[in-house]
Amino acid sequence: MAFDLSHLNPEQNEAASHFEGPLLVLAGAGSGKTRVLTSRITWLVDEMGVDPAGILALTFTNKAAGEMRERVRSMLGRELAGMWIGTFHSVGVRILRRDAPKLGWSPSFTVYDADDQDALIKRIIRDQLKLDLKKWPPRAIHSAISAAKNELTGPQEYAEGANDAFERVVADVYPRYQQALKDANAFDFDDLLVKPVELLRTHPHVLRRYQDRFRFLLVDEYQDTNRAQYVFLQLMAAEARNLFVVGDDDQSIYGWRGADIRNILDFEKDFPDSRIVRLEQNYRSSANILDAANRVISHNVNRKGKTLRTDAAAGERITLVEAADESDEARWVAEEIQARMADDARLSLRHFVILYRTNAQSRAMEEGLRREGMPYRVIGGTRFYERREVKDALAYLRLVSNASADEAFLRIVNVPRRGIGDASVTRLAEHAAARRIPLLAAAAEAGSVDGIRGVAAKALPELSALIGKYAALASLEGVELDQLLRELVLESGLVEALKAEGPEGKDRLANLDELIAGAAEIQRRLVDEDPELMMELEDAGETSPRPLDLFLGHVALVADVDQHDPTADAVSMMTLHNAKGLEFPFVFISGMEDGLFPLIRAYDEPEDLEEERRLFYVGVTRAERKLYLVHAKRRRRGAQYMDSAPSPFLESVPEDLTETRKTPRILERSSSWSQPWKQGGSYTSRRERLFGGDSAWGGGKKKDDGDDSGYQVDYADSQDAPSLRKGARVRHPTFGSGTVKELTGYGNDVKAAIEFDSVGRKTVVVRYANLESE
Ligand code: ATP
Ligand code: MG
Repeated sequence: MAFDLSHLNPEQNEAASHFEGPLLVLAGAGSGKTRVLTSRITWLVDEMGVDPAGILALTFTNKAAGEMRERVRSMLGRELAGMWIGTFHSVGVRILRRDAPKLGWSPSFTVYDADDQDALIKRIIRDQLKLDLKKWPPRAIHSAISAAKNELTGPQEYAEGANDAFERVVADVYPRYQQALKDANAFDFDDLLVKPVELLRTHPHVLRRYQDRFRFLLVDEYQDTNRAQYVFLQLMAAEARNLFVVGDDDQSIYGWRGADIRNILDFEKDFPDSRIVRLEQNYRSSANILDAANRVISHNVNRKGKTLRTDAAAGERITLVEAADESDEARWVAEEIQARMADDARLSLRHFVILYRTNAQSRAMEEGLRREGMPYRVIGGTRFYERREVKDALAYLRLVSNASADEAFLRIVNVPRRGIGDASVTRLAEHAAARRIPLLAAAAEAGSVDGIRGVAAKALPELSALIGKYAALASLEGVELDQLLRELVLESGLVEALKAEGPEGKDRLANLDELIAGAAEIQRRLVDEDPELMMELEDAGETSPRPLDLFLGHVALVADVDQHDPTADAVSMMTLHNAKGLEFPFVFISGMEDGLFPLIRAYDEPEDLEEERRLFYVGVTRAERKLYLVHAKRRRRGAQYMDSAPSPFLESVPEDLTETRKTPRILERSSSWSQPWKQGGSYTSRRERLFGGDSAWGGGKKKDDGDDSGYQVDYADSQDAPSLRKGARVRHPTFGSGTVKELTGYGNDVKAAIEFDSVGRKTVVVRYANLESE
């Protein structure tokens, strides 16, 4: 049977049925890049007879990997045994599980999360280097190390290039940090990219093995690869040269995390024999939305330039919304969602997404939806695995899995409280350092350590025995992970401590239950869905990781985006970054304010501003049917309210594609505030001021300076109505003078009932009435 690619257009088909040699699909949002990539996998297997075990597909999130696997399964009607689909990080873990011993780690290594990393760096700065933590914040040092790693710059090379005080401190921390990770048999997140590269570079026979196995490499979202990922691909593809990448330079939004847009722009240079396929048809968005997106991105200078068109109808206009503040914004969005659902019975909550620039914005939005009783789902923010009680339970598990996990030990040594104070822990750490043993091993000997007395001298060995008992259990054949975890949280006293916390503790207990249920589920999946891995692990002999280790590895990899479940009926909320690759019928982009989006700091560098604009482009192109761009006139930042001007990005959205609305609160306000009738200045002149550095966001501008207070955002209609209030005296060009009696309606439809001195009471549509103050 000839394989069917008829669901693709001719260009898509050309790319999907490309067999050997490097190929780049360079195309705009919604043009079917991901669909082509998936189709090509099935084509390779079904039409060309390629062994699925020879295919390695790399996606940007685990979620995307799961979807791709599912799609391939449903297109082919069977599972593709042996194929690897995953993120660079998860593929890195798989490689390291097999080959970490060659680098000096054991296969049951731990993956440190951001908190563990910060805690470790903090200890190095404070305890080893004796430096001031305030002057050298661990976060900043951690970012610098992370950036260096993603550039594949090792500690020595970094030290050679360090030329200011900060960089010299980083250069001091970096090698110690790496050593501490190794001592703890741990990798940090960045190591999951860097260490496989190191392995492939230093072990030619290992490289050869992977090159021989993976004859076909496919990469989605190629524009967001960083140096380490790039080198990884170059190494892996060097022999077979079947590298198939898809991407969109206009959607490169991870420059701040080391992604290098040149990787996609230079593909032809890297592979002179490559083919380039362009896709120009967008299948996602209405024509209005696509027009707006094209216009927005055309303001960027640094781009290849692409055409993107659609056969779709114009669709609804894009709605620009002005809200009073962040809670007004949230209320308006919640009510609009309800109104849309009331209009169309086929819609459900999952058709709506709310996007924002920063995670902190989710809180007000959450409250708004909660108040309306609308189910929602936050992707990112306080992730499940970052909750305190979940992290505590996981720290116990990590220690059970890996007795050298000192960071985990420090987290739970006195959680729940067992009378072990800081002084005892410091003594214990000294003892451990002197004997070069892990803290857990030192705890077993605590009874005989000088300076550890009383309760601690008893509690520490008990803790060590508890962990030892579960470590033995975890290694037993056929152990059920959820059972183990359930007993562990009970016996450690975690559950009891939470019970004592009252109502909040109840929620936390529910989270522990969820973790336990998840452990069962994940264990089942790891074993069922990856029989090949399990077999290989068995072959690897006695050091093969246990279900516990696999579970912990999995947890460490679950990125924010992975919680998005399109079938659940809830409104989704996430940052613009997390929305990449996704699509929704209704999209709200909130916080469209200058200094927030684009972020104020992006003004320093033209490239950063372009990256912010690409992020806006990503946001706009998520929408299928309807796009809302919402901004608030003031927004709380910490304890203070700051006035904010609309984002200059709004100006790049063509007027003829938009309509403007104001929240009821804004309308109410404008009728009760005393304001100058005629507002000063057009949007353009205001914008010039904004770009002149007079930003409401950064500058901490004074409140209501009278100039901006009457500001309204009818870009589509700069002849906006003056703000009116009941009782005001106004003059009408035909009817003369009168007194405002009543105001009704909304947005462009505000009507005023006016008692005119000469002709009596009349109702006028304010927008057309050309009223002046008197
Ligand atoms: P992004 O740049 O946002 O990642 P993309 O280029 O990967 O977008 P896809 O997500 O693959 O685009 O496709 C966008 C939408 O268009 C999807 O809903 C997809 O199913 C649909 N689509 C793609 N190609 C076709 C086609 N030939 N016919 C009908 N629908 C298509
Ligand atoms: Mg895609």
